[in-house]
Amino acid sequence: MGTILVVAEISKGAIREASYELVAIARELASAGGHEVNGLVIGSGVGDLAKTFAGKGAGKTYVVDSAAAANYNPEVHGKAIKAAAKAANASLVLISNTPTGWDVAPRVAAGLDCAFVSDCFKASAAGADFNFVRRVFNGKLDAEISSTGQTVATIQPGAVSAFAGTSDGATEALSVDLGAKSKFVEIKIAQSTGVDLTKADVIVSGGRGVGAPEKFPEVIQPLADALGGAMGASRPVVDAGWLDHPYQVGSSGQVVAPKLYIAAGISGAIQHLVGMKASNFIIAINKDPDAPIFEVANIGVVADLFEIVPALTAAVKAAKG
Ligand SMILES: Cc1cc2nc3c(=O)[nH]c(=O)nc-3n(C[C@H](O)[C@H](O)[C@H](O)COP(=O)(O)OP(=O)(O)OC[C@H]3O[C@@H](n4cnc5c(N)ncnc54)[C@H](O)[C@@H]3O)c2cc1C
Repeated sequence: MGTILVVAEISKGAIREASYELVAIARELASAGGHEVNGLVIGSGVGDLAKTFAGKGAGKTYVVDSAAAANYNPEVHGKAIKAAAKAANASLVLISNTPTGWDVAPRVAAGLDCAFVSDCFKASAAGADFNFVRRVFNGKLDAEISSTGQTVATIQPGAVSAFAGTSDGATEALSVDLGAKSKFVEIKIAQSTGVDLTKADVIVSGGRGVGAPEKFPEVIQPLADALGGAMGASRPVVDAGWLDHPYQVGSSGQVVAPKLYIAAGISGAIQHLVGMKASNFIIAINKDPDAPIFEVANIGVVADLFEIVPALTAAVKAAKG
């Protein structure tokens, strides 16, 4: 059996929590399928991070340490992952389904000429093969995909708990030709609109079900105001330009854990749940009784949000006098 190679993602000088979630999945697959787990850390001056990764579950960890890899570049990182997959004789390469992960992973799979499965939230070993599960049709169905032979897979952040144990593992430097036709220029941080959802005790979020941009100030914001909270949104709302990105809750937005989270007209796709399921109390309002959001809700209201949300706003205002 070959190895399962876990690619660490570095953000703000530290290995992301999502990389330790990959470690948890890799170790479970490895014990079921008889594989060994290896890690990979790419960057500049990342020797200590590689040692940390090796000791916190990844086991033997390859390091590609070069000034050329100081900033993310899909060509450079793709070459490094491909080289490590070959060095490790990897049967499976696990990459987080983050913006950099979904950028680089198909390039690696194409470079290795192997199977590619994206956006999974479950994985299991079936002998030498692997099975993966991913949500489709806005979370209404789960698709099971099995792959044979070498595979690159991306896994949703938040799909499992991060591995919290320790492991024995040395680091091994890999020398890779990182020459690339493209080069990193700069990162521009978007101007903040002043919304910091991570600090709000109450969040009232609206989804595509709200239907129109003007309904956010008319229907969603008043309930947030009445509760002394903040307004949030799902990604389609932001993609449509109805609200700015700081309002977005989810895997590619803010991860929040308020005392109260109200989701109105949000289906509950895994990418949204990842961003809010740690909330203390969740109320979901949705017309569809089978909406996945109800699986994480403490109170589920199967109803039209345009009836329930204004009624709630009025009730809160009345209760507050
Ligand atoms: C890589 C990646 C990253 C992503 N990151 C994020 C992220 O960070 N955050 C995020 O939210 N999504 C993210 N997504 C998108 C995610 O997969 C879903 O598409 C999205 O969350 C769906 O948003 P929604 O629930 O608002 O819309 P829909 O899935 O279209 O759901 C709308 C819901 O509104 C209900 N509804 C309609 N009208 C009413 C009404 N009048 N009253 C009550 N209910 C009503 C419907 O029954 C439906 O359940 C990401 C996707 C990918 C692939």
